[in-house]
Amino acid sequence: MHLVCDFDDTLTNTTKYWNFWLDKLEKVGVSRERAIETGSRLFIERFTLKRHMDALSIQDQTAVQLLNEMEEHVKEFGKTYIFPDVHPFLLEHNTNHSFSLLTYGDETNQRWRVSESGIGPYFQPVRIAGPEKHKVEFLKEILQTTAEQIIFVDDSPNELNPVVDAGLPIKLYRIVRPGAKHDYVHERDDVAWTRIGSIDEIKI
Ligand SMILES: [Mg+2]
Repeated sequence: MHLVCDFDDTLTNTTKYWNFWLDKLEKVGVSRERAIETGSRLFIERFTLKRHMDALSIQDQTAVQLLNEMEEHVKEFGKTYIFPDVHPFLLEHNTNHSFSLLTYGDETNQRWRVSESGIGPYFQPVRIAGPEKHKVEFLKEILQTTAEQIIFVDDSPNELNPVVDAGLPIKLYRIVRPGAKHDYVHERDDVAWTRIGSIDEIKI
């Protein structure tokens, strides 16, 4: 069995990381509302802290300092953002099954965050989707290169829906982390995919 995993809000607590960033922006005078509104637009493109600051007109010394602080923070605490159910699951299944990552965003930024999270070695390869190539396209390619059964887990119905609509022979899970962006009921929960609350509910 090969398990393809989303990263943000599936394996790592992106909501907590995002709130940490919003706190930092608030301290330099950016309202939460404006930061969220500006950031949300960037998520569809390829979000980075730098692009977010550019969009908010945070420049020069303040921008350099904020970026340094965030880099230090991720370096020191990146591992602690991984949800507690992830490591036990990987340790239990890693000898009989394989895992890879399929995340959305800026290539450099995502690879850096995955690397600092400490879980990178379990997931090979790490694939980065974006506006010009969505996750469903990567999954089609994966299916063509293996005879293994593929499982895909993501928190966002926006990523799962195209896989269902394409009729791909992939077992789908939607993980819902309390307080996360996609923490809501969806009509396809337990219809087109299995809704779970923690990664160890995946039947592998
Ligand atoms: Mg996600």
